Amino acid sequence: MATLTSAQAALDLVARLRTSFDSGHTRSREWRRNQLLALRRMITENERDIEAALMADLGKPAVESQITEIGFVLGEIDHTLKHFAGWMKPQRVRVPAALIPASARVVPEPLGVALIIAPWNYPFQLALAPLIGALAAGCAVVVKPSEISGATSNLLARLVADYLDTSAVAVVEGAAAETGWLLEARWDHILYTGNERVARIIAQAAAKHLTPTTLELGGKSPTFVDDTTDMAAAATRIAWGKFVNAGQTCVAPDYVLVTPSARADLERELVGAVSRMFGTEPSKSKSYARIINESHFERLSALLGSGRNILGGKPDKKTRYFPPTVLADESADSAVMKDEIFGPILPMIEVVDHREAIAFITARPKPLALYVFSESAEVRRDFMNQTSSGALGFNVPLAHMSVHDLPFGGVGMSGSGAYHGKRSFDIFSHAKAVLSKPLRPETLGVIFPPYSRRKASLVTGALRKLS
Ligand code: NAD
Repeated sequence: MATLTSAQAALDLVARLRTSFDSGHTRSREWRRNQLLALRRMITENERDIEAALMADLGKPAVESQITEIGFVLGEIDHTLKHFAGWMKPQRVRVPAALIPASARVVPEPLGVALIIAPWNYPFQLALAPLIGALAAGCAVVVKPSEISGATSNLLARLVADYLDTSAVAVVEGAAAETGWLLEARWDHILYTGNERVARIIAQAAAKHLTPTTLELGGKSPTFVDDTTDMAAAATRIAWGKFVNAGQTCVAPDYVLVTPSARADLERELVGAVSRMFGTEPSKSKSYARIINESHFERLSALLGSGRNILGGKPDKKTRYFPPTVLADESADSAVMKDEIFGPILPMIEVVDHREAIAFITARPKPLALYVFSESAEVRRDFMNQTSSGALGFNVPLAHMSVHDLPFGGVGMSGSGAYHGKRSFDIFSHAKAVLSKPLRPETLGVIFPPYSRRKASLVTGALRKLS
């Protein structure tokens, strides 16, 4: 575990990891596999402690922690263990006829020393899922968990130091100051998950060294519902996607756009779904998480006061319990529609039809996720072709995250770059272009000076043909 006391300490740490990376030992397949296996063991041998830390930070129910954090990370590790040797293999590509004889390959190589900066809302998953990719790619790496989820941060620092190769992997705990120190160093890749404001700080720091970044951000993820859907099933999934982790999910349905003929049914079914999941007194439910801290609790409380409250209750500051809340007949210019809600408040806005919904969505920044509950082929096609979002979910929120081969990331203001599965390996790797051509026979004579029109047409013709 590393605690930093100065920018110099951060530079020293990165220099130490760079020396280790430069020694070449993280490049071997064995090292990568051993680290992934050690990470797996670290999790399976400490599941109860991980659940306890997530309970301490977010009141996260153990089963929810298993599904959305621990199980998710184990799934990514297993997928990566199964495939990474194949991902490491050079890929042969065809060469233009003009270059024959020659062979061309794309050779993945580790980028170097990577920095992963994680947020507090899924503090275990969002710190470790990128780490899997960095280890599989053979990088040295620093993970900086969020100070806001302090219990999970402490635990990760202790466990990573116990289980992984400390010459190449470190967890640095701390907040803005420590992260600022880390950002003074030269990194080979920075993966940041969090809000847009800090993303600008990260991007500026990265620009100093022209370091590539993956920015996993947030924003308002809309959900569209019309009357062609099975309303009871749709409402249940929307309620789950919204209220899991007490709404503190980057890809949670932020708000609902509903057509007039679907509105009353959706309202009724949402109320029913929440009561089936959390009972009539969700404050007593063992399946409902808490708000991370007082300042987020107060931020959420300030968002109430508009719309028609069809579901809610009294928030309790002491326990940071914030009830599942649904606000019908919300207006587009209310406070709750301004920024990402990131809590258990679901505003619903009526739209005439899916065209108005699409116009509403495309007039705003591109979302991280967009969900559509409609059986109409035309509606689905129009959302597919006329909107842009990190992900598009038909009939299901959140679940796209669990598909290893789907890119997880945003577009525009919701982020740039994507990871999970092979893409995690790719973002921490450089795809090196390797071309090899025997010196004899000399087939390149035609491109050497002195030039002539005839040479030009011979060469351009041959370049268009692939071997
Ligand atoms: P946060 O406050 O924990 O910040 C994220 C990280 O940035 C932390 O490690 C923190 O220490 C660091 N940080 C904070 N201030 C800093 C500064 N001034 N300089 C350098 N580093 C600093 O988390 P957050 O930003 O509140 O996270 C919530 C946001 O993240 C939401 O917008 C959410 O949608 C988004 N999010 C996105 C994803 C995704 O995968 N796309 C996942 C989870 C959360």
